[in-house]
Parts: sequence; structure tokens; C-alpha cells
Amino acid sequence: MSAQVIRALVLALLTGVAALPVGIFFAEWAGWTIFCAGLGLQMAFHFRNFSRLDRWSQAPVVDSSLEGEGAWDGIFGRLYRHEKDLRQQIAQREEEIARIIAAAQALTDGVVLLDLNNQIVFCNTTAETQLGLMLRTDFGQPIVNLVRRPEFVAYLEAEDFSRPLTLRFDRKEERVLSIHLIPYAGDRRLMQIKDVTQADRLDRMRRDFVANVSHELRTPLTVLAGFLETLQEIELDRDEQQRFLAMMSEQSMRMESIVQDLLTLSSIESAPPPESELVDMANLIDKLRRDAEALSAGRHTIVVESDGRGDLRGAEPELVSAFGNLVANAVRYTPAGGTVRISWQASPQGAEFAVEDTGIGIEAKHIPRLTERFYRVDRGRSRDAGGTGLGLAIVKHSLSRHQAQLEIKSTPGVGSRFAAKFPASRVAGV
Ligand code: ADP
Repeated sequence: MSAQVIRALVLALLTGVAALPVGIFFAEWAGWTIFCAGLGLQMAFHFRNFSRLDRWSQAPVVDSSLEGEGAWDGIFGRLYRHEKDLRQQIAQREEEIARIIAAAQALTDGVVLLDLNNQIVFCNTTAETQLGLMLRTDFGQPIVNLVRRPEFVAYLEAEDFSRPLTLRFDRKEERVLSIHLIPYAGDRRLMQIKDVTQADRLDRMRRDFVANVSHELRTPLTVLAGFLETLQEIELDRDEQQRFLAMMSEQSMRMESIVQDLLTLSSIESAPPPESELVDMANLIDKLRRDAEALSAGRHTIVVESDGRGDLRGAEPELVSAFGNLVANAVRYTPAGGTVRISWQASPQGAEFAVEDTGIGIEAKHIPRLTERFYRVDRGRSRDAGGTGLGLAIVKHSLSRHQAQLEIKSTPGVGSRFAAKFPASRVAGV
């Protein structure tokens, strides 16, 4: 029996003890009256506290309304402490949940939690963006009502989650998502969504590149093999032999230039950021002019426009390679009698190296793709001109490593202008 109950019983007993002498020595009715009045008062007190407890239990609060009286003091005190502890625990749990949600929101991967009926229980903002969901309105919705792609529905139904599912979206721009369902806590599922667009694009570029390289090298190799077979099988006179050998040498030179350009490209790609050595531009422009004249062999007018002021900070071999490619292209794509103009202008605001020609020009639709590896406007013409299709890719890469922009302007049949614009930080001596 609890102390409070004993206390209440003792009080009732004391009322009886107080009423007894009055009943014995005064009048029986007076004794009963005192006894009933005492018990009535005690009952009223207990009813009052009982109804307070009833009211409080319907809307528990932690405040002074829980201060009890008499035997009820202990009960209310314990309830007060219990309720306070409970509230502290709830606040702690809420804080922990908020921290877990904040961590889930900070993830760069999308996360969706599904219940046993594949209904959405939670998703972070990354998943909202990736799948076009909105937790506020989509909470409790079956995921298949919102992500309706048949591959996804089949993935959920197949129940084999050992591998992720790759989904391609073609809305405004191509996006590739890798979705992996991870079962947890029995029937529940965690959906992890990774945006693999970039990795997918790189993988495709790598495959295209390998295919392109193989194709580019196979063509001259096939020609070489054909000539070799002919030379082995057929008796040729000396003149014919010389003609065949010249054609074979042309093909092997072609392969050599492709390999050389590939090596240049890969060395630029894998090299550390270019050093800031000073590149003497007057010297470099002079060398470019001499190279252009040698390549042109007197078929073009080569003009240099430079006041000799200003130098560049960067890696000389990369800049030589970039500028050399622009000059060589201008000569190769300009018919005899045309002009190739090499210009250099430097100021404290920045510098521009440009090559302008009066050549065949390029249609506007090709311009954005010119710097792609192996992209040519006219494959046959490029091959005849000794091109590899890698020149402008090298140019773009070297320039971007020097924070420079390549600007291309061209009019078919009139000519082209390729300009490399360098920021002030790369210019010296002005
Ligand atoms: P290629 O080795 O074929 O010249 P590039 O990457 O240097 O490869 O150039 C890509 C393509 O851009 C060329 O095939 C050519 O069609 C076009 N091109 C580049 N420079 C010029 C230019 N000065 N005039 C006209 N077309 C050009």
C-alpha cells in the first residue's frame, strides 16, 4: 500500500477518533455529524484533486498547475518530473532527427526512403531536383506514380537490387541517373540516386576517341599494307617502285603526325598547370612567320602585324604548339595567292594573338564543333592538306590552360580569323 493511501486512511481514522468522544460524552448524533463532516471534507478534497488530475491528463503541461496538496503532492510531483523528462527526451530526439535530416540534405546524392508499399516517407532536396519530387505534396505517394519510367517500375518489381539501374532523361538537357535500391529494416527501402551524367559523357567520349584513333590509323595502315603486298607479289619497274614508295612514305608520315598530335594532346592534358616562364613574343612571332613561309613555299603573302611590345607568361612549348597550329591551318586552308596575317597586340588589360586568312572559310554551323577531336569540315580536304583533325583540340586545350579564350570568326569563301585572347595576368612587359 502506498504512503499516500496510508496517509488518507490515517486521516479518516483520526476523524473517527475525534468524533468518538463527542458521540460518547455529548450526543451520538453530534459524533456522527463530526465524523461524516470530516469524511465529507476529505472526499471533497480528493474529488477536487482527482478532477484536477483528470483535466491535466487530457492536456498535460509542465507548469505550476501540477503543484499538489497533501497526499496528492507526491503524485503530482512524480507526474511533473515524469512529464518533464519525457519532454526533454522528445526535444533531444527531435534535435537528433533534425541533425540526421540536415545530413541527408547535405548529401550530393539523392536519397528517398520508401516504406513497405514503396510509398515515399522522406526524400532530400537533391532527390527532389533529380526526380522532380516535392516531399511536402508527395509524402505517402507510391513512388511509381511519380517516377513512371517502365525500366524503373520493372526494377522495383523484379526485387533484384544487387545492381543499380541507369536511367537516361532527355528533358532540356541529357541527364543520366544511377538508382540503387538498398533494403533496410526488413521491408523498408533506401533509394540512392547518383547523377552520373558527367561520368557517362566522359565514358562515351573515351569510347568515341578510341574508335576515332583506330579509324584514323587504320586507313593509312590499310593503304600501306596494300602497297607492301603489291610490292611483294608483283615485279615493278624502278619508276613504279619509286612511285609506290613515295605513296607509302606519305601514309607513314600521316600516321606519324597523328601519333605526334596525340602525344602532344596527352602531354598537355597530363602536364601540371603551365609555369609562368616568360615567353619572348617577338621571337616567337618571328619563328611563326618563318614556319608559315616554309609551309606556304611562296604560294601566299605572309603579313606580320606587331609592335613587338609585351610578352606572355606561360609554358612556351604549349603556346608554340597552339599558335603554330593556327598558322599552319591558315596556310593549309588558303588557296595559293591568298594572304595570311599574323598579329600580336598587348596592353595592360590583356593581349590578343590572331591569325587571319583569306582562305576557304567555314560555315557557321561547324564553328562550335571545330575544337572537338577529329572534327573536320571536309575530311578529304583536311587529309589532302596533311591535317590530323587534332590541331584545334590542341589549340583549345593549351589556351584554356593559360586562361585564354579562342574566338573564331569566319565567312565561307572570304576567310577566317582565329584569335587567342589572354587575360591581363598572363601579359608582361606592357
Ligand atoms: P585539321 O588537322 O583537319 O586541320 P584542325 O583541328 O586543325 O584539324 O581543324 C579542324 C577543321 O577546322 C579542319 O579540318 C578545317 O575543316 C577547319 N579549319 C581549321 N582552320 C581553318 C581555316 N583557317 N580555314 C578554314 N577551315 C579551317
